[in-house]
Amino acid sequence: MKLAQRISNLQHEGAYRVMSLAQSLEREGKDIVHLEIGQPDFKTFPEISEAGKRAIDEGYTRYNPSEGYGDLRESIAEFSKQRGIHSQPSQIVVGPGAKPVLLFPLMALLEEGDEALYPDPGFPSYRADIEIAGGTPVPVPLVEANSFSFDLEALEARITERTKILILNSPANPTGGVISKPDLEAIAALAQEHKFYVLSDEIYSRLVYDDSPAESIYTIDGMPERTIIVDGFSKSYAMTGWRLGYAIMPKALAAKVSLLLTHAVGCTAGFTQRAGIVALLECDDDVSKVVQQYQKRRDAFVAGLNSVDGIRCRLPEGAFYAFPNVSAIGIPSTTLADRLLNEAGVACLSGTDFGPNGEGYLRFTYAASQAELDEAVRRVGEFVAGL
Ligand code: PLP
Repeated sequence: MKLAQRISNLQHEGAYRVMSLAQSLEREGKDIVHLEIGQPDFKTFPEISEAGKRAIDEGYTRYNPSEGYGDLRESIAEFSKQRGIHSQPSQIVVGPGAKPVLLFPLMALLEEGDEALYPDPGFPSYRADIEIAGGTPVPVPLVEANSFSFDLEALEARITERTKILILNSPANPTGGVISKPDLEAIAALAQEHKFYVLSDEIYSRLVYDDSPAESIYTIDGMPERTIIVDGFSKSYAMTGWRLGYAIMPKALAAKVSLLLTHAVGCTAGFTQRAGIVALLECDDDVSKVVQQYQKRRDAFVAGLNSVDGIRCRLPEGAFYAFPNVSAIGIPSTTLADRLLNEAGVACLSGTDFGPNGEGYLRFTYAASQAELDEAVRRVGEFVAGL
């Protein structure tokens, strides 16, 4: 079969691949600690689930506007003001998860041959989506010594006449890094000078620790007209399976992205959207409690990893991932991740699942119980000591 060029490079997402390998080992009777997939280990907050069930009973089970219900988009606009993001509902598009509203703006903006800069290591869908949209992906390395932010000179060196968009992700998957305000200002200056758009994936913006503010580049003068914020409910509200996300963008772009949603997915489930309104209005305390939990687990897990000879892990400022540097162990990251799964029973990802620049790193999610995290540290320590 002759398949289209634009999908020829599509790869598995590492987290799904490792999860299914780990599950087949479990079927053979092996005991596995699952730290591979990036989703909260607690249930959707009860008030959200109740609202979703109530909405089904009330009949929110039919087609609805492709861009999402007006009152949900108003709630998102209101809610975003807490972070200094001022927008109109007409700039907001709701979708079934953050993923579609990440892909569709790229489809709406990129012409064949346009270059899109994206972080390496970074969320695997960035490169895939740029290619699906017909653009040319240009990786920009993240630098551990700069809190896993860009080296700004390396970023500038990759900007060309064809640069149409830059993808940012802060707090980041897989590194947990948060881009500082001065770096955001420098990036905003480059975007305005070279007239490219910024797609800022802020899905982890509520999961920040030690009072690290997750600032949005949108709040910098001149940026609302060239920024697309991608956000969603999966991570903050433990709603990964509900499929609810949104993006804030210039109004003209939002109109076209709504049309892409019309033709690709139709609309987002109505009862999910009703549940989303309750999440925004009623769940601040639940989110704060969960963030405190993650912070405790992060502190203990990262300290545990750092106690293993050959592993060096910086304290991530946000999200729920640890991204330790394991280069001193002297085994390529993919081999190390495979061996940890098969020989030590710890499922984690190779840094290279997020791009070639992830070589020398592993990614563990710490959205797991303290007991599982402690056991993982024990198993990793024992495995590394036995090498
Ligand atoms: N962006 C990042 C950085 C992610 O890590 C994820 C999920 O893993 C997503 C977007 C997609 O989120 P959603 O479940 O809302 O589609």
